[in-house]
Amino acid sequence: MSERPDGRKFDEMRPIEAKVGVIEQADGSAMFKIGKTIAIAGVYGPKQVHPKHLEDPEKAILRCYYDMYSFSVPERERPGPDRRSIELSMVIKNALLPAVFVKEYPKSQIEIFVSIIQADAGTRCAAISAASMALADAGIAMKDIVSSVAVGHVNNKVVVDLNKEEEDVEGTTDIPLAYMPRMKKITLLQLDGKMPKDKLREAIALGTKSCEKIYEVQKKALKDRYNTSGE
Ligand code: UDP
Repeated sequence: MSERPDGRKFDEMRPIEAKVGVIEQADGSAMFKIGKTIAIAGVYGPKQVHPKHLEDPEKAILRCYYDMYSFSVPERERPGPDRRSIELSMVIKNALLPAVFVKEYPKSQIEIFVSIIQADAGTRCAAISAASMALADAGIAMKDIVSSVAVGHVNNKVVVDLNKEEEDVEGTTDIPLAYMPRMKKITLLQLDGKMPKDKLREAIALGTKSCEKIYEVQKKALKDRYNTSGE
């Protein structure tokens, strides 16, 4: 039984596709699609830091750039960085940082570019899932893959992977979550709205369980890349 606008069950994510190795000139790259939301990530580095004064003698710095394309949404988005994309770049970076062995790469930078080419909610989460595969593809030493999805409280029900229609429902609470499945550690938890504490616990449990499913898709995409590269 379902009361969701697109007929999904409460614990059902939209169809997911993942591919590693989608940008030839990047050191690592990946695509992550969930429903109509599509994120493409490219990783460059580790490499020298410019400007040099930003360099950290003990570890690498991560720099993240999130961009939602003008044509990604029904109403044309103004091109270029705005407050939202600057904030999301920081949110994505902080969700990925705990997974990266930054001390392996002193005095260097790792750049992560994520472009949203189609958006139907959940873009920061799709960006994180894509970027962590791209980091792994670049051969960056990592403790774990980061998997990410939003959970929420819509019409008094806890649901996973809200689409834009659900996000726009009056009173909806949106909870973007990122998780390292092997380490069992949450690296991002945002709460946009209000909900009862027991429902929040239920939502977090649903989120981490769903991230474990995403993790399997990410691992398969990474293995497929390795199996077909012929290198
Ligand atoms: N959105 C939009 N125009 C904008 C910003 C967002 O159409 O300028 C849509 C887009 O579908 C996006 C959703 O609103 O995925 C939710 O955006 P939010 O800022 O909550 O972040 P997200 O859920 O994408 O991580």
